[in-house]
Amino acid sequence: MKKLTILEAESLAGKFRSERGLSQYEPINAKTLLRRLNITTMYRPLSGNSYGISCRSKSGKMFMMVNSNSTRGRQHFTIAHELYHLFYDENPSPHMCQGLATGEEKNANMFASALLLPRDGILPMIDKDEIIHRKIKLATILRMEQMYQVSRTNLLLRLKALGLMTERQVKDFQAVQVKSSAREYGYDQSLYEAGNEGVVIGDFGEKARLLYESGKISEGHYIELLNMITNGQKEN
Ligand SMILES: [Zn+2]
Repeated sequence: MKKLTILEAESLAGKFRSERGLSQYEPINAKTLLRRLNITTMYRPLSGNSYGISCRSKSGKMFMMVNSNSTRGRQHFTIAHELYHLFYDENPSPHMCQGLATGEEKNANMFASALLLPRDGILPMIDKDEIIHRKIKLATILRMEQMYQVSRTNLLLRLKALGLMTERQVKDFQAVQVKSSAREYGYDQSLYEAGNEGVVIGDFGEKARLLYESGKISEGHYIELLNMITNGQKEN
């Protein structure tokens, strides 16, 4: 496994966009993209520290599960993170992604960040004055996170990675209450709330349906199921 630099992650994300007819600046609509890529996706409540899981079967079918307990903004990051596993992970094996910043997890996070928040899209949204004085306003933060449908944390970390924000400024913004700041500026709150529980994208096999319909399923079972699909056993 090769550790990606930020520039390599950006060029991979840029390539991913251009190969799918997306410009280098437009926001990603996660559900539309999942449909277009034909990735069977289920939004289900997973335990607190799990964000998502994905796998590709031997025949090339792709599956993804997203934690519906995460905020919608965080879900978009999870989806972009899982796209890295599906398309670029050199040694994919189904696992719960829990936000660990090591190895392929770190690569997947860097890719997700670059894909969701493209440099060419976010830079023009920041005033020259804000860049010169190295002080981005809350109003700009809100405009960017709403435009690109990401969580506050994802945006702040991206701005820091691009050298547009200091660690101190990130901390200061993290102390601001996200939902109330959005409300004050007249934005929709749904980005900052959990959602999509029970939503399914794409057609999915009988096995997955049975599991899905049986309600509460342990994460261990999901992994077992996905391993089965990946190994091509009893595949639908
Ligand atoms: Zn992962």
